[in-house]
Amino acid sequence: MDQLQEDVTCSICLDVLDDPVSIECSHNFCQGCLVAHWHGVSAQGYQCPECRTPCSRDKMTPDMGAGSHRPQGGD
Ligand SMILES: [Zn+2]
Ligand SMILES: [Zn+2]
Repeated sequence: MDQLQEDVTCSICLDVLDDPVSIECSHNFCQGCLVAHWHGVSAQGYQCPECRTPCSRDKMTPDMGAGSHRPQGGD
């Protein structure tokens, strides 16, 4: 059987990462998914949706090799 590569799958939308970002615990998510998720839970503080590690939104970094160039601090 094929083995899914967790590194390229977003655990929020369960699809291939779109505009991937890494957070402090090294989990990867789509930037859009993570922003939307954290928007909904902001009152509780930011945590990794997967492992619940407390994370700073400012530590969100573009995943290596994504090839997308977006300036920080947009939106
Ligand atoms: Zn996603
Ligand atoms: Zn995590």
